[in-house]
Parts: sequence; C-alpha cells; structure tokens
Amino acid sequence: MRKSGNGEGGRTLGTTGSLCPVCLRRIAAERVIEDDVVYLCKSCPEHGPFKTVIWRGLPSYQSWGEAALRSPAPPAACGAAAAGQCPFNCALCAGHLQHAGAVELEVTERCNLACPICCSAAGANPSPDPSLAQIDAWCRTLLAAGRAFAIHLSGGEPTVRHDLPEMIQRVRALGFNYVQLNTNGVRLALEKEYASELKEAGLSCVSLQFDGVTEEVFEAIRGRHLLETKLAAIQNCAEQQLDVVLVPTLIPGVNTGQIGDILRTATALSPTVRAVHFQPISYMGRYPGLPQNADRITLPEIMQLIEQQTAGQFTAASFRPASAENPYCAFHARFWLQPGGGVIPTVRPANPACCRPAQPANLDAFSAQQKQAFCISAMAFQDAWNLDLEHLDKCFLHALSPNRELVPLCAYHLTGAHGQRLSRSLTATRPA
Ligand SMILES: [Zn+2]
Repeated sequence: MRKSGNGEGGRTLGTTGSLCPVCLRRIAAERVIEDDVVYLCKSCPEHGPFKTVIWRGLPSYQSWGEAALRSPAPPAACGAAAAGQCPFNCALCAGHLQHAGAVELEVTERCNLACPICCSAAGANPSPDPSLAQIDAWCRTLLAAGRAFAIHLSGGEPTVRHDLPEMIQRVRALGFNYVQLNTNGVRLALEKEYASELKEAGLSCVSLQFDGVTEEVFEAIRGRHLLETKLAAIQNCAEQQLDVVLVPTLIPGVNTGQIGDILRTATALSPTVRAVHFQPISYMGRYPGLPQNADRITLPEIMQLIEQQTAGQFTAASFRPASAENPYCAFHARFWLQPGGGVIPTVRPANPACCRPAQPANLDAFSAQQKQAFCISAMAFQDAWNLDLEHLDKCFLHALSPNRELVPLCAYHLTGAHGQRLSRSLTATRPA
C-alpha cells in the first residue's frame, strides 16, 4: 500500500487516464481512497487539479471489482482510430477489450421538451433529421460489424419523427430483433393509438424517462409537470402489452429521496413495467452550473438507498456488477415479484440482457407459478470530470457516429466545462 501521489492523505488504488474537464486534453489520473470514499485525482498543466468522487461507501470499491468474474469478448471489427489515442477520434480500436452489445442511434436532435438537464443538449440548433435511407445505411454498417446488436432509438426525442413506426419496421426487417425506444413518453400519453402503431411496427421495449413520483421533481429536472403524462404513457403501453423500463436520472437533493417510491410505483405497474434502470446524473450536455462532489451520487450509494427506502425488500447484497461492462459502470439484479407483495432475488443471470424478453421458456414456467420477473439496474455514464479511460475499453453501449463508427456512448456525449463536445469538435479540442 503506497501513499497516493496527489500529496494528500489518501491511498492509491491505481492509475488510469482521463481528460481535463476544461480543455479536454488527455491527462494522467489516479484513483485515491480516503476512508471509504474513492476519488479520481488528476491535474492539467494549464487548468490545475481536479478531485472527483467516483465511489462512496459499501460495498467497497475493491470488493466490487473482485466480484466481476468474466472474460471480455473483443470486437470483431475495428474502427479507424489507432489504439492508445482514446478517447480522441474514439471508435472500436484495437485497444478495446469488449464488443458492443447495444448501439444507440441518434435519429433526431429535435425534442418536444426543453429540459434544464439533458445529456445530449437536445433541441438547441438541431441538425436536419437523418433520412430513413440513411438509417438503413447505418444498420447495414452495424450488420457488417458482425453482430445483431440491440438497437436503442434515441435523440433528441425520437417520437417527434412522424416516420418512427416505419423506421422501426425497417430496422427489424434488416434483422435486428431487439429495438428499444428511448422516450419522454409525451406522445405515447397524448395519442392513444400510438403505442399500438409502435408495437405493430415491431418495437420491443419503451425506455421511459421517469424521474420521480411528485411534480416538484419533474419541474426541477424536466421544466414542467409530467407525472400524469408518464402514467398515461404507461397505461397506453399496458393496453398494447408493450414492455416498459423506467429510467430515472438521480440528482442529489432533487429525487434521491424517491428511489423507494419509484420502485413501489414500478412494481405496482408490473408486468408492463419490467425494470427500473437508474442513472446517476452525469454532467454533459445541458446542466446548471459546474458540478461539485456534493452534486454526485455513486453506484454503491444507490444500492444502499434502494435497500433503505424499500425497508429491505430489495437488498443491496442482491446486486452484482453487470457482466459485460467494466464493473464500475453498472450494477444489476433480477427479482421475482410474488402475488402477496413478496420479493425473491434470483441468482445472477448469465445474460446481461436479462431485462429483455430473452428467456421465454423460463418466463412461461414462472408465470405459471404467478411470479413476475422484475429487474433493477443502474448505469453510471461518465463525464469530463469522472472519466476513467479504462472504462471505455470495455464499453458495451455504443453510439453510431455520423461517420458510421461505433463510439462508446460516454465518449460520444461527453462535453467539456464550456459545453464543447469531444466527439464532434475534434479539431478544436484535440491536443497538438
Ligand atoms: Zn486543461
């Protein structure tokens, strides 16, 4: 055990690479533990030191890493960037240890909300939407990469496109069996027949932003009241037997006190709602002010709050690192809901895509016993402050860039302190 090189009282847990959040140049970084809090410490020769919390409390950072037992599967097709240059011009280079599992397609930059917090800064000066023919071409690029990726249609807000059902049909017809829609749910709530159109087109799952159970939360995060809209969207999906995953963005002091309420709402709406996927806020795109450590919530804190706020119904010990990504990117557990309100944790699933309708035989057997599968997971997207380049090597969730390369999603959306985008302003941000 050696002292960290940052000149403070902590102990080092290893070194990695990161970025200066101001100028986005690549700099060395060190993981430093002080008591049970782990920080990413780094210093830019021009902009000084940065110390960002990445892990608070139990399970310990070290034990969590040891719980991840798996062999990564390297990507078959490589992108243009040379290994060692990550995250600049990032694509699936020879430095990557993991193939992509899911790919996000940004099908519009337009949005029908103007959220004060938005990781893609949607709605501001949107580019023209890609045509259906262009999206077909993207999909053929993915097929050439050799895998039937899970496709996430994202934006912006994909439902502002009137050709979304046709887009889903075309993606499915090209051979992609899992198509998920990332949405705020506004259109699903307003147009009763819309869920039916999407279902008929072949949509697999609705990934619905769902930040809390009071309007104060929606006002703070989305800029308007949305609770009734969300519930109406879920109801319309239920009538079409269209699966829904609730996706809360967790922000300290805004909705971290509603984790238990969100889970109770979700389980009450099972089986339509089959999972809750928490996302601790990451500071990219549009957000108010520069982030302090108090503005962050880490994965172990979410596990503990799940247990506390559900009175132990869902225990922190049930969770494991997701089996594809770097273990510090995500956690996951699957439970069986019983008719009387009981909950049984299941063993760790071998398939990271367990929330998807991938095991019909098992589900049939269990539904015969009147139990419902329910998943709880979380994924911590990285921003310019907490970026650990070792996480990108094992990224499982990619975006397809406009020049048709697979880019780790965090690198794709990452922005600097002045709002500059890493993946779209390479010449401006890349160091000489
Ligand atoms: Zn700098």
